[in-house]
Amino acid sequence: MVSKNLKKQRIVIVGGGTSGWITAAILAKGLSSAQYEIELIESKEIPTIGVGEATIPSIVLLLDYLEIDRFTFLSKVNGTCKYGIHFDGWAEKNKAYMHAFGSLGAHVQDMSFAQLWLGSADSLNLNNLNAFAPTAIAAYQNKFNPPVALPKGANPNHFYPLSDLHYAFQFDAGLLVTQLSRFAKDKGVIHTIDKVKRVNNNKAGDISSLSLVKQGNRSGDLFVDCSGMAGVLNQRHFKCEYLDWSNYLPCDSAIPMQTGKLDPLPPYTKSIAMNAGWRWQIPLRTRTGNGYVFSSQFIDDNAAIDEFTKSLSGQEILTEPRVIKFKTGCLKTPWYKNSVAIGLSSGFFEPLESTSIHLIHKFAVELREALISNNTREQEVRAFNKMFIDTGIQIRDFLVTHYHVTRRDDSEFWRHCQTMPIPETLQAHLEEFRNTGYISLDETSLFSYESYLQVLVGQQYLASYKNLRSSKLNPQGAKAFLDNVHNAIINEVSKLEPHDNFLKKISA
Ligand code: FAD
Repeated sequence: MVSKNLKKQRIVIVGGGTSGWITAAILAKGLSSAQYEIELIESKEIPTIGVGEATIPSIVLLLDYLEIDRFTFLSKVNGTCKYGIHFDGWAEKNKAYMHAFGSLGAHVQDMSFAQLWLGSADSLNLNNLNAFAPTAIAAYQNKFNPPVALPKGANPNHFYPLSDLHYAFQFDAGLLVTQLSRFAKDKGVIHTIDKVKRVNNNKAGDISSLSLVKQGNRSGDLFVDCSGMAGVLNQRHFKCEYLDWSNYLPCDSAIPMQTGKLDPLPPYTKSIAMNAGWRWQIPLRTRTGNGYVFSSQFIDDNAAIDEFTKSLSGQEILTEPRVIKFKTGCLKTPWYKNSVAIGLSSGFFEPLESTSIHLIHKFAVELREALISNNTREQEVRAFNKMFIDTGIQIRDFLVTHYHVTRRDDSEFWRHCQTMPIPETLQAHLEEFRNTGYISLDETSLFSYESYLQVLVGQQYLASYKNLRSSKLNPQGAKAFLDNVHNAIINEVSKLEPHDNFLKKISA
């Protein structure tokens, strides 16, 4: 797509937060330095958001892409391992479940494990999928190991629970930036500290250069807007349309606060329901990240700080509360003219399923692919923007599911979530689930059917599964099978070592 004349193409990235440095690292690794020069400009006057510490399993693919050793990296960012998210109080007060990574149970001849479970749930009085998720069982026992290869000589169809221990990481966002900026600079990225004060266009309406406060102009062929909520290029300069999804996701504020280290360190993130939203707990090696995500329609900032601080009582509070405001949604055209928005400048989804860093990684890779493709710029821009919106809708619908299927009615916020309008795409998913127990998702969907299933079962969306098409099962046979699966998982997980030991071992 980029003309292959002798002059190097200049890519200018605005912003030195998580999105700026992930994008710089991916482009520096994936593009030829003979063809491209990359410069990252960041202002020291405008701090980075300083949160963004929990991830999903694709984080390890980012490290693999950069050829950075996964666990060496984890030690350098004070990180811990993550097998899933524990949702506490979302279905009802005092009820919890985990959205666990990896697959559930074992396949049974011509039936998926999900079908077997749904078909037996009523007769066997089952109410929990976590008993069949190796990662959930390991997480609740504070154990950790990466996936283990099948024992030698084992039949490849043999059910081996440890082969599917998918994992992600939790880390200090500041240290992530330190590591990736070092990586990107080593690969030749020019780092300029200055503030963009003006954006200059050429006759075609593309950005020709950025005027900096102290260091003159920076010209470029392509600009990447990683300026966070400032949205310097696509939002402020080009005034690109923002798709506002706050009617579906009413939370619009967050208060991050750090507390002391947990002991032992759990290999999972917690999401705990509150009166007007939820709070996260992310265990790191030296401290714990917490934050209350809430809706200002239902609680004011001071009352939220009060409720949040009380919920942390007994823990050592290390930072003052600060309130961050956001609008859930995303840009309709994150790639507009010669400017591509990545990270918070392209939109925001609350961190309920830890998806933002994944989006940065995914779209930085897509950008790199577009730059080396032989298609026209128009084709690439169209495909990039379509994929961005499709992914945004997938994430939005999965997030809305958690709120909408709550059974809580003990606060105005939770009552609102049950009755609020939901997107048509999600209505169709829930209707299919009510009729069949299945949800047909697009093959590109970030969240699988098993992810939806864990949330819908965990939050007791259906009181009974008896009307589903898979309900004709022999209860004794199903019970024996399910008991075997559960016992095999318990037996194998008992061989894993504590998460703390694993972390010590990789840091030695
Ligand atoms: P920022 O970190 O805000 O960086 C913006 C950069 O732009 C800064 O370097 C700034 O100096 C620069 N800049 C701005 N204006 C100018 C200018 N005029 N000139 C020069 N430079 C400029 N994501 C997850 O994946 N997991 C999570 O658990 C998670 N939790 C979150 C919790 C909250 C409350 C919030 C708000 C977000 C969370 N996120 C999470 C999202 C995650 O924090 C962000 O996606 C990530 O940090 C990327 O931010 P950014 O780099 O786009 O913006």
